[in-house]
Amino acid sequence: MTYERIVVLGGGTAGWMTAAALATGLRNTVVELVESEEIATVGVGEATFPSIRAYHQILGISEADFLRATNGTFKLGIKFRDWRVRGEDYYHTFGNFGQLDGSDALWGQYRRHVNAGLGSFGEQCLPTVMAMHDRFCAPGQDAAAFNYAYHFDANLYARFLRDLAMARGVRRTEGKVVDVTRKADGGVAALKLDGGRDVKADLFIDCSGFASLLLGRTLEEPFVDFSRWLPVDRAWACPSAPVGEDLTPYTRATALTAGWAWRIPLQDRIGNGHVFSTRFIDEDAAREELLRQMDGEPLAEPRLLRFTTGHRARFWSHNVVGIGLSTGFLEPLESTSIYLVQAGIGRLMPLLQRGGAVPPAAVEDYNTGLVRQFERIRDFILMHYCLTARRDTPFWNAMAEVELPETLAYKLHAWRQTGALVQYDEEGFDGHSWLAIHAGMQHWPQRTDPTQTQIPVEKSLEWVRERERQLAAAVAPLPTHQAYLAHVLGA
Ligand SMILES: Cc1cc2nc3c(=O)[nH]c(=O)nc-3n(C[C@H](O)[C@H](O)[C@H](O)COP(=O)(O)OP(=O)(O)OC[C@H]3O[C@@H](n4cnc5c(N)ncnc54)[C@H](O)[C@@H]3O)c2cc1C
Repeated sequence: MTYERIVVLGGGTAGWMTAAALATGLRNTVVELVESEEIATVGVGEATFPSIRAYHQILGISEADFLRATNGTFKLGIKFRDWRVRGEDYYHTFGNFGQLDGSDALWGQYRRHVNAGLGSFGEQCLPTVMAMHDRFCAPGQDAAAFNYAYHFDANLYARFLRDLAMARGVRRTEGKVVDVTRKADGGVAALKLDGGRDVKADLFIDCSGFASLLLGRTLEEPFVDFSRWLPVDRAWACPSAPVGEDLTPYTRATALTAGWAWRIPLQDRIGNGHVFSTRFIDEDAAREELLRQMDGEPLAEPRLLRFTTGHRARFWSHNVVGIGLSTGFLEPLESTSIYLVQAGIGRLMPLLQRGGAVPPAAVEDYNTGLVRQFERIRDFILMHYCLTARRDTPFWNAMAEVELPETLAYKLHAWRQTGALVQYDEEGFDGHSWLAIHAGMQHWPQRTDPTQTQIPVEKSLEWVRERERQLAAAVAPLPTHQAYLAHVLGA
């Protein structure tokens, strides 16, 4: 069967990202999006991953138009405060560490001689040095230099994509789905709207958010629960007024009593939130903790969001493909939800573009690939918690003792034993990212690769010092993030 009519249920970030991609990539397919203004979107997905730039490129979206429409800013990475111990911070930016993680893997030398007047590990990474000094400048033609992402207002982003998708032919239907009719094979035949209309399609994309109306409630696809590894289950979100002149080109993630707080700078306000576990702190205390550590005055009452970490066992079942929160949620520490939305779209589009029926083997491959992507990111996020040296609250004690998934346990073992940065299939984060967290958490191998000891110490230390000097010199003349953004917006 070919998919002549596709219906997207839900008009949050996932729904409009999917509809815009379908309208751009499938010229002969009718695409309809059903959404209800009565049911609010999550609307707090404000920090992203660099892959979003590729999505914009494929859709032909100009960076300046997008930043203007969404109050967007640039993001070099994340600054982690108080994660290993209180009072310490480190960065995870989208860059590399030169010879420290190149074929010579000089991190071993660095580590042994760290007292020889070397700067922090982050000073070997260009975007980290930029972040430390609130500087930003796009890498231009030298894409290998580093990568970057954005912060934006998620509600404005959905609106921006809605206009783009509708201009490319997507039909928008306002209506609340009150019932779902099934086909004889168990798939979905039609969505019944509150006005009485039946919306039929060959393929339904479930972007209904945590409600998971089609994949979860209708098809009863089981939920694979990750909360024994990632126990956070609530978030308070609250915007605040900007303070001071500095627009930081990074997200800040501060470890608190029983979770962590995000700080995301937009052009007109700061997005704040506290992600926490109700096993260790109650909602009222978590709300107070968020407000206490915010830099500026709150601009609204904090809003509570409830979730369980994990994912649906399958993302595609019968004639329903789930994309976005309907398929699951990890937690926002590494800003990976919109990236996973994009991963779903990226896998789906070529299957639909080939025409004809998508065979069961391809559907299975789609499901296996996305399950793996969720598991890899789960491991990466869990690594931030389990390497903590904090023992000051029951939450951090529990996180240090979590029984790790085998996949992560093996990665940490291989690193400790030999300094190998093991990578599996479907990784969301490359070796540079893993190294940034190992280094930031001061989690170093017990042994050094014998080949490293053959490089004379003085020579390797000189390389490290020279890179530090070069990066500092390269960053000094760059514009501040604020100035660069003003230039892009004005262009
Ligand atoms: C606390 C928190 C922080 C987050 N931070 C980030 C971040 O920094 N970075 C990131 O990438 N992601 C983040 N996310 C995730 C991000 O917000 C979502 O992945 C993204 O917004 C996609 O959401 P969605 O479109 O799947 O769902 P939603 O935004 O919930 O949209 C659901 C849509 O379905 C519609 N709908 C539901 N039921 C019906 C019905 N019966 N009839 C008709 N329409 C219906 C609603 O009207 C709505 O339009 C965060 C999420 C949470 C909870």
